[in-house]
Amino acid sequence: MRGVAVAVERTGEWDEIVDVVVVGSGGGALTAALLAAHNGASVVVVEKDEYIGGTTAVSGGDMWIPNNHHIADQDSRQDAIDYVTRLSDGRASDPSLIEVYVDTAPEALLYLEEHTGYRSEPHLRLDDYYSVIGDRIPGVRPFPRSVSVMPYPAKAELGELADRINRGPWIPPREISFPEARRGDVGPEELERRRREGWLAKGGGLIAPLLKALVDEGVEVRTSTPAVGLVTDGGTSVVGAVVESGGVRRRIGARKGVVLACGGFEWNAEMVKTYIGYEVKPISPWSNTGDGHLMAMEVGAKMGSMTTFFSYGAIHDPWEKGRDGNPLPQMLMGLGPGSIIVNGHGERFMHGGYTYNDFSHPFGFYDQRLPGFPNKPPAWVIFGSEHLEQGVLGAKPGIAMSFTGPDGQEPPEWVATADSIRELAEKIGIDDDALQATVDRYNTYAEKGEDPDWGDPLQTHVLTGPSTVEHRPVVGPRYGAIQQWPGTIGTNGGCRIDADARVLGNRSPVVDGLYAAGNVSASVLGATYPGGGGCVGPSVTMGYRAGRHVGARAARDIG
Ligand SMILES: Cc1cc2nc3c(=O)[nH]c(=O)nc-3n(C[C@H](O)[C@H](O)[C@H](O)COP(=O)(O)OP(=O)(O)OC[C@H]3O[C@@H](n4cnc5c(N)ncnc54)[C@H](O)[C@@H]3O)c2cc1C
Repeated sequence: MRGVAVAVERTGEWDEIVDVVVVGSGGGALTAALLAAHNGASVVVVEKDEYIGGTTAVSGGDMWIPNNHHIADQDSRQDAIDYVTRLSDGRASDPSLIEVYVDTAPEALLYLEEHTGYRSEPHLRLDDYYSVIGDRIPGVRPFPRSVSVMPYPAKAELGELADRINRGPWIPPREISFPEARRGDVGPEELERRRREGWLAKGGGLIAPLLKALVDEGVEVRTSTPAVGLVTDGGTSVVGAVVESGGVRRRIGARKGVVLACGGFEWNAEMVKTYIGYEVKPISPWSNTGDGHLMAMEVGAKMGSMTTFFSYGAIHDPWEKGRDGNPLPQMLMGLGPGSIIVNGHGERFMHGGYTYNDFSHPFGFYDQRLPGFPNKPPAWVIFGSEHLEQGVLGAKPGIAMSFTGPDGQEPPEWVATADSIRELAEKIGIDDDALQATVDRYNTYAEKGEDPDWGDPLQTHVLTGPSTVEHRPVVGPRYGAIQQWPGTIGTNGGCRIDADARVLGNRSPVVDGLYAAGNVSASVLGATYPGGGGCVGPSVTMGYRAGRHVGARAARDIG
């Protein structure tokens, strides 16, 4: 999929003039729109998809917010800064933005709670992701700094508009919050009631109250209306946007500015190839095609962190299709105990218990001894009869991928079965000696409950837990293999921004009138994922700063 055509068009006749145009309708966008409106600006939000909320709406909605009001007595600003600084290991585009984030996120959270119907609660059993190796890094906390979205009565508050909020297949049910699910305190009857009444938790429970607050402010959210270009004054200022709706282009003047909050470029294969270099499967709505990046580059924006992305493992469900009609990538890293992940050389290069944001990156490792990329995707998950007999390829809450189709169909060619490891190797194009040796070695140790190569429980992630690398041999008589891909829940490189989310320029220090928040910007956390909510937290927080700044600035004379 390509980005929409982008063009820079000089000023001329406007079809419409407002103070602020917000591009996109995810968490960063709606927060920016709200803050701009609260600071006195007239605002219009344009969204490319027919649904509202982007990836944020289909996400868990968690936000990693150190020092938030639920935990402030147990946390410290400096510890949080030290932790992220250590994780980013010198790669953050602008390390000073880590401080900006840590200082602003708790304030933005409180703002949303005080000015919208959004309510948070502390997450449960989601400690900082690197707390398992807490003795090696500073500032980490062995409890959740992440906040979770409490359920919101979307239908009662928004009526039919609630049906326009994006939905995704990945983390059902969307009516129950993560803490509720972990406590097990919502039974089938309560779930049924919430479904009937149209409640939303997780990402939808963040988007819905933001949308309601915007409706109350009289801010229009126009769906199926992509921005296709930015309008400059002929110099280095952005003074409007070109949008398309029903095949008609309109030029909207923006007296105060344009906020790009239109997501990553994970669905733009050409950009993924150019910047990341290897195929990464998008696990997000189809519409994040890097349009904001392309538009910003056209007006001289400085870009950063373009080679990075928020990662997750992706294994395609043989029987379920996504909105694009292709097999649905499920969020899976291996298939749990009794399976191993191998590269195209039949060698293990990771295990399924990795912190998900770190899972995809070993696929890009270059080995000078080959020379080449030994782990280039796809990798393969190798498993035995145990999985095949259960008929289940992968299982985690809400996901149960069946081996045979609903009508008993045989699986597609990227799922292979065989009577021996050697035969399996041949079917999937891997050297049979190498795969046999890898499985033999793994099994020898797994029978003793050991895994000297990749079994260090301290390498596991708090979310997936040590059980992910529980050592059970891969045993026949039948064996199976399914492709394992690196996946992304959103790229995180993009426009470099300052503390107020103003886009930095190549031709001028900042591109006047242009702001960016979320995955269209270079991640303020330096592409790290310190704990659950490492994407939505920054998107909302920098959207908050962008909206506040652009809303409060003086309107320009744009003709
Ligand atoms: C299943 C799942 C669970 C996740 N859970 C979490 C979680 O709990 N916490 C967390 O931090 N992260 C989570 N993530 C990742 C996170 O949701 C995203 O990285 C984040 O929401 C991106 O936010 P954003 O504001 O940058 O963009 P998005 O929310 O993706 O919004 C971008 C919007 O811009 C629109 N757009 C694109 N181009 C244009 C254009 N030309 N004109 C107008 N509009 C345009 C898109 O259609 C989209 O609606 C999850 C992701 C998935 C898939």
